[in-house]
Amino acid sequence: MQFRMQEMMNKGLKATLNEKLDVSDLFKGRGDVYHSGPLHVSLEVTGHEGYITAEGMLTADLELACSRCLEPVKERVSIPFFEQFAPAAKEETDGEAEEAEADNDFVEVAGDRLNLLPYLEEALQLFMPFAPLCDQNCKGLCQTCGQNLNEKACGCNNERVDVRFAALKDFFKE
Ligand SMILES: [Zn+2]
Ligand SMILES: [Zn+2]
Repeated sequence: MQFRMQEMMNKGLKATLNEKLDVSDLFKGRGDVYHSGPLHVSLEVTGHEGYITAEGMLTADLELACSRCLEPVKERVSIPFFEQFAPAAKEETDGEAEEAEADNDFVEVAGDRLNLLPYLEEALQLFMPFAPLCDQNCKGLCQTCGQNLNEKACGCNNERVDVRFAALKDFFKE
């Protein structure tokens, strides 16, 4: 995952990465991620004059909590990855370098070592499915007693809550 910037750029080197990364530590402490991956990394890393490109695909099998009922949901994420790296301009202070990064296409790398790992991990975190569902029609958990309503009805009277939601909907219409 580590590359020497100058050498790759000067010689126009190409490297092909096919690796499995253990990313379970990334989601430690997150209750909504039951199991994560390995992250399959399939990348071409190419040295150009003055910059390096990394391009390819990341895939991972995830087991996530259904956002309504918390039952495990298996999802495979495939993430197209494309990033360009250039050596950081030396005269810039840290703060300015960060601002400059926002308006050009290159990620600035301080020093000669390019470590791809943090960028791969970041990509995975950005592409985590938002609000996964075990089923489009998942009924979720009872707001009163916590019963999984996909399994059976609980008989709680949640009508008051429904009325409030109905009122909110009208509110947003206006
Ligand atoms: Zn569900
Ligand atoms: Zn209930």
